[in-house]
Amino acid sequence: MEYFEVGTKKDILYWSKRLYQKGMSPATSGNISVRTKDGILISASGVCLNDMDEDDIVLIDFDGNVLEGKKKPSSEKFLHTQIYDLREDINAIIHSHCPYITAFACSNKLMNEPIMPEFVLYFDKIPKAKYYLPSSMQLAIDTANYFKTSDTVLMQNHGVVSGANTLQEVFYALESLRAYAETYFGTQVLGGAKKISKKQIKEIKNLKK
Ligand SMILES: [Zn+2]
Repeated sequence: MEYFEVGTKKDILYWSKRLYQKGMSPATSGNISVRTKDGILISASGVCLNDMDEDDIVLIDFDGNVLEGKKKPSSEKFLHTQIYDLREDINAIIHSHCPYITAFACSNKLMNEPIMPEFVLYFDKIPKAKYYLPSSMQLAIDTANYFKTSDTVLMQNHGVVSGANTLQEVFYALESLRAYAETYFGTQVLGGAKKISKKQIKEIKNLKK
C-alpha cells in the first residue's frame, strides 16, 4: 500500500480515489474528512473524489469556518462537524451516495437481513435517518444524532455516512456494506436468500465475545 501518514491530505486523496474507483462516489457526490489537531480537513465542494489534489482539501474549524484553503468546503461540512462533536473516538468520516447502498436508503428496507455471518456481526442494526434538505443544519443534527448508537447511518433518499478512527476503517466498513447490498440484490434475482437461523446468529455473535 502507498505510504502516507494517517490523518493527512495524502490520506484523504488515497481513500477518495479508492472510493471513486470502486463506484462508491459517482461524479462529484460524496465528501470525506479527517480530524487533525488544527481542525477538520475536508474535501471541497463540487469536486470529483477521483480528481482531487491537495488544493481541493480545506481546513475548517469545528463550527465549519474555513481556516486554510482557497476552495469552498463541502456543503455537508456540518454533518462532519456534528459527528466529530458527538464522538471523540471518530477521527475520519466518509459520506457517500454509493448507488447500491443508497438503493436501501431510498426504499423501506433496512440492511439487516441475516444472509452471511460477517453481515450479522457488523451490520446488525444500521439506523436510517429521516430525509432533510441536503447540506441543511437539520440534516446534520438529526443524522449525527444516530451516531450515539451506530458508526454508520443510512440517510433517507440520500446516501450513507460512516465514521471510524481512520479512513481505512471507514472505507472497509462502507465497502463491506456495499458488498452486503450487492449480495442481497443477487439473492433477490435468484429467488431470495436462505436466511441464517436465530440459533446460528447466536453462535456467530458468541464468536465476537
Ligand atoms: Zn450527500
